[in-house]
Amino acid sequence: MTSTGTDASERLAARVRAAGLKVTDSRIAVFDAFRPGEHLDADAVHARVASVLPSTSRQAVYGVLGALSEAGLLRKIEPAGSPALYETRTGDNHHHLVCTTCSTVFDVACIVGEAACLTPSETHGFRIETAEVTFWGVCPDCSAGRASTALS
Ligand SMILES: [Zn+2]
Ligand SMILES: [Zn+2]
Repeated sequence: MTSTGTDASERLAARVRAAGLKVTDSRIAVFDAFRPGEHLDADAVHARVASVLPSTSRQAVYGVLGALSEAGLLRKIEPAGSPALYETRTGDNHHHLVCTTCSTVFDVACIVGEAACLTPSETHGFRIETAEVTFWGVCPDCSAGRASTALS
């Protein structure tokens, strides 16, 4: 969890700067809290940031998540019935598989490769820009858990 390697944080700082944001400790710490493929809610991010910058409030983390999302450095997803989740994989229009049992979120590549990958049967004159696709189901772990419970 201690990835305060100067190289890594310099790279993060450069990305924050390139997105037009001022580089602050809390922005770097929030950005740095994510591992590839993770989808974290604000509480999880706050817990990690607090281990590096103990004085960071949850409110500050919310603010930074909002700023980083607006700047395109984070993507925010809001699966029904779960708190907003953030991830660092942006710009590829990927979709999500969400487990209805444990709420684990998996990434799946865009169906077509770019937005909007689905076209509605009726556009009502809209120029369609994106289609938000969430697949719901039961993950392998939960399926296995269910099977073994049923056996016992
Ligand atoms: Zn599951
Ligand atoms: Zn994702």
